[in-house]
Amino acid sequence: MNAAASADLTPFYEPCADEATVFESAWKNRLPLLIKGPTGCGKTRFVAHMAAKLGLPLFTVACHDDLTAADLVGRHLIGDGQTVWCDGPLTRAVRAGGICYLDEVVEARKDTTVVLHPLADDRRLLPIDRTGELLAAPPSFMLVVSYNPGYQNLLKGMKPSTRQRFVSLRFDFPTAEREAAILRRETGCDADLARRLAGIAAALRQLRDHDLEEVASTRLLVYAALLVGDGMDPVLACRSAIVESLTDDPEVAEALMEVVSATF
Ligand code: ADP
Repeated sequence: MNAAASADLTPFYEPCADEATVFESAWKNRLPLLIKGPTGCGKTRFVAHMAAKLGLPLFTVACHDDLTAADLVGRHLIGDGQTVWCDGPLTRAVRAGGICYLDEVVEARKDTTVVLHPLADDRRLLPIDRTGELLAAPPSFMLVVSYNPGYQNLLKGMKPSTRQRFVSLRFDFPTAEREAAILRRETGCDADLARRLAGIAAALRQLRDHDLEEVASTRLLVYAALLVGDGMDPVLACRSAIVESLTDDPEVAEALMEVVSATF
């Protein structure tokens, strides 16, 4: 594949600061990376962009509270009366020398630490207890994890012994101009709609007294722009794509809608 063709396949990512430099330098130095930031602010897109830019295969795992070490490493499966070993995504990433991205890593079961620690420090080893294998990660392998500090509670925080194995990047929502640029590029919407939606998001993120679990993410703005692009009235698009996704409380929803009505 020539350079121009491979550049086309790189997912679009609008940079914020020097996150790409930190990522690339961590990768070159065989260091794992931790990305923290609110949901929908571009963490996953950034990792996909960097994987394509570096020409590395990407293995993404959305972690949840039932995810065990075996889900990451692999397990024996029974089929046709035979037992066959099946690599999990972490093992596949190590064997392929790619990037393993564990999204919302603090959600995973604690037994995952046993496999992540030796991979995340200078040993770069993956022990596969069930097969007796000990895999040494090739130089191009990189472990990337993310979490949203806002979801954290005392039980689910990341342990310092884990956190201190990673180079860390903090992500936040983009500035209004950058967010408008993302919306234009992602959805093809016009500059005026992009500016208004970014303004609504900025205003909603200022509302602290409404007890919202989450503020409006760039992802929700992308949805709203797509609905408007399909011909939907912007107020209805904002209600459906932004406001109703943020709250179940009708009164809070009406308060958020005031911000929308003031814009359109
Ligand atoms: P996170 O992983 O932080 O929850 P994502 O990376 O999935 O969030 O971002 C959600 C969506 O927002 C993406 O699919 C993309 O459309 C858009 N987005 C957010 N930030 C950026 C950015 N910096 N560049 C390009 N798209 C972005």
